Amino acid sequence: MLRVDGLTVRFRLRDALVHAVTDLRLTLRRGELLAVVGESGCGKSVLAHTLLGLLPRNATVSGHAYLQVSPDADPVDLIHCGERRLAREVRGRQLGLIPQSPATALTPVRTGRRLLEETLRAHGHSREQAAAQAEQLAVDVGLNPHDLDRYPFELSGGMAQRLATALALASDPAVLIADEPTTGLDRSLVDHTLDLLRRRCDAGHAVLLITHDLSAARRVADTVAVMYASRIVERQPADQFFSAPAHPYSAALLDALPDRKFQPIPGHPPMLTALPAGCAYAPRCPLAIDRCGALPADRIVDAGTVACHRPRGASA
Ligand code: SF4
Repeated sequence: MLRVDGLTVRFRLRDALVHAVTDLRLTLRRGELLAVVGESGCGKSVLAHTLLGLLPRNATVSGHAYLQVSPDADPVDLIHCGERRLAREVRGRQLGLIPQSPATALTPVRTGRRLLEETLRAHGHSREQAAAQAEQLAVDVGLNPHDLDRYPFELSGGMAQRLATALALASDPAVLIADEPTTGLDRSLVDHTLDLLRRRCDAGHAVLLITHDLSAARRVADTVAVMYASRIVERQPADQFFSAPAHPYSAALLDALPDRKFQPIPGHPPMLTALPAGCAYAPRCPLAIDRCGALPADRIVDAGTVACHRPRGASA
């Protein structure tokens, strides 16, 4: 449904160039939930905004991202189709977004009910259908339907998050990008939201889940892609990833989980304005060798790909 090929995003600042996304490749199939994981600032959310055409003016983008919502539909290249087509046909219709910051994404002068009903009517529902469907969506996301009569600024962060999720679902997009969709939710609502996303995939849709929460990915993902310093460094089926990650950074992320070693990753990610020529993880990597001064190419490990000179199972 979605094939991203060589996607590269740069932001030009007055005195620096931000390498936000570099040569990114991924595929998302019908029925698949792909989790893109990594520490804050690695480029995950920029990926979401790039696919939706929501980047600021100082961004330059190259590469391709083909969206094909059904086998007989022509693929749309989201990067090159133009804002007019994105706005008319794609954004909020074929490709939906649960935003990371719902408080700023929700129109403040309309109640949740009105926001939902307007969205549903714009997608062909009658007035009566929209009213009923708005209440059903509220229930689906764990909101009390009475709370739909509040304005966004009257909602808690978690309630605003659930309203934003309901709005994203209202257009029933073939592909849904969920950018940290469980922010501000307590554990039971986190699971409720994740299970909702899982059910969408089981019903034949596709979800790109962007999260720093590996527990969330472990609960629902079919596939995990790990992003570090603007690049995807490992992509594996979820079972394989959580049982035997191949990239040293993936292993460190898992070791940091409270139910594993609870061991923080030493050091910090590099600045995206000053990335090294070789492996960006080298200063933090216990396996680094001289060869890591050169950029590692993707290689096949298990059922996925890994960008590392010394992935698990390979000899030095
Ligand atoms: S390429 Fe080298 S430094 Fe980078 S993760 Fe692999 S072993 Fe570590």
